[in-house]
Amino acid sequence: MKMNHKKIYMEILEHINKVPVIDTHEHLESEDVRLNRTVDLFNTYLIHYASSDLVSSGMGDNELAFLTGDSTDMEKKWSVFKPYWERARNTTYCKSLISATKGIYGIDDINEDTYLLIDAKMKECNKKGFYKHVLKDLCNIEVSILDSDIRCDKEFFRSAIRMDRYIKFESVDVIAEVEKQNNITVTGLSDWVEYINRAVARYKKVYGIVCIKTAMAYERILKYDKTSFFDAERIFDSVLAIRAKYGWNRLCDANLELKPLEDYLMHILVQCAAEQNLPVQIHTGLQERNGNYITNANPTHLINLFMEYPTVRFDLFHGGYPYSGELCAIAKNFRNVFVDLCWTHIISREFTVRLIEELIDTIPMNKIFGFGGDYCFVEGVCGHLYMAKENIALALANKVYKGYIGMDEALHIGKRMLYDNPKEFFNL
Ligand SMILES: [Zn+2]
Repeated sequence: MKMNHKKIYMEILEHINKVPVIDTHEHLESEDVRLNRTVDLFNTYLIHYASSDLVSSGMGDNELAFLTGDSTDMEKKWSVFKPYWERARNTTYCKSLISATKGIYGIDDINEDTYLLIDAKMKECNKKGFYKHVLKDLCNIEVSILDSDIRCDKEFFRSAIRMDRYIKFESVDVIAEVEKQNNITVTGLSDWVEYINRAVARYKKVYGIVCIKTAMAYERILKYDKTSFFDAERIFDSVLAIRAKYGWNRLCDANLELKPLEDYLMHILVQCAAEQNLPVQIHTGLQERNGNYITNANPTHLINLFMEYPTVRFDLFHGGYPYSGELCAIAKNFRNVFVDLCWTHIISREFTVRLIEELIDTIPMNKIFGFGGDYCFVEGVCGHLYMAKENIALALANKVYKGYIGMDEALHIGKRMLYDNPKEFFNL
């Protein structure tokens, strides 16, 4: 870094550090749930992300299960963890844990000399007020959008509702569940569509949800073809018939082609979003955990939805990684598509800095959301946010250094990314 570049970077970072943050996406448990859990370094830090890189480096499933399990033998856990940590500690997932440890517990590294100390500090800090300390005092997050917990603590969160299980039927008999909870009998597809419509309206009215979230790229391709009601109804009737005759858990064995029904229901859900004026958050790109079909998650599969529902605003997650060039092109092309860098900073810092520079070249600045922690444990949010702020500052400094934008414009874009854009988009 040349000196004047470093000066530009430091000035932008200093400014960005003062900007309050709207965090577009989290999975955090409530503070009460966390306080009632026995936390240790391994069962907390390895809930996700870094654990996937440890597995990728060769860790066995039984070893990961031991680390995330109840054993209180920290020395034993360290001896299992250590060889894989030494292989994988270069990745940004792992660096994010180091960043969190530094930011919250004031310890510079996770190694043989520090792991017991970090574990002790984690246990000591696990008391009322920890969320306020991390999310407000350290991170200055005004509000985070929380995936699925509709009864969230409004001091910290607003809710996104996930309706995937009512579209892509899994092992649980969701029809029975809905019938019981709502005292209704589902006799056909019309009843099911009516339930989805009523549920979304109620979640908005009663719980104040700010958007709908869908993450089906974990299980299927994101291509939602236009299906007729009659074709979808025929499949739904088969689902009801199999359920009545053999039970819900035999649905998988029936080899039923469910995709046209799922496609139909996704269109219904997007129509609900239009009626309720709710944006839709969609998982695109890399899936968490190991062993999945990345091609299912390419955002280009979604183009027919963007075309068909121009009044619905779509928030596309994870910078589309690794399909980010495609995502830039789509967001440039469609008024209703926005790019969200939740999770992206911890997939790769290098990639995200380049992507931000590319986004500034390609799409209007109001369409970039700079941060979503996407963590299940609160330390991760802090580690991730520190990296995100540095990444945004570096990308903006690069653009200033190259003469593409001036300093004032860089500061303006930085604030928009972290605060103004998501605030306006989600009506917060
Ligand atoms: Zn997520």
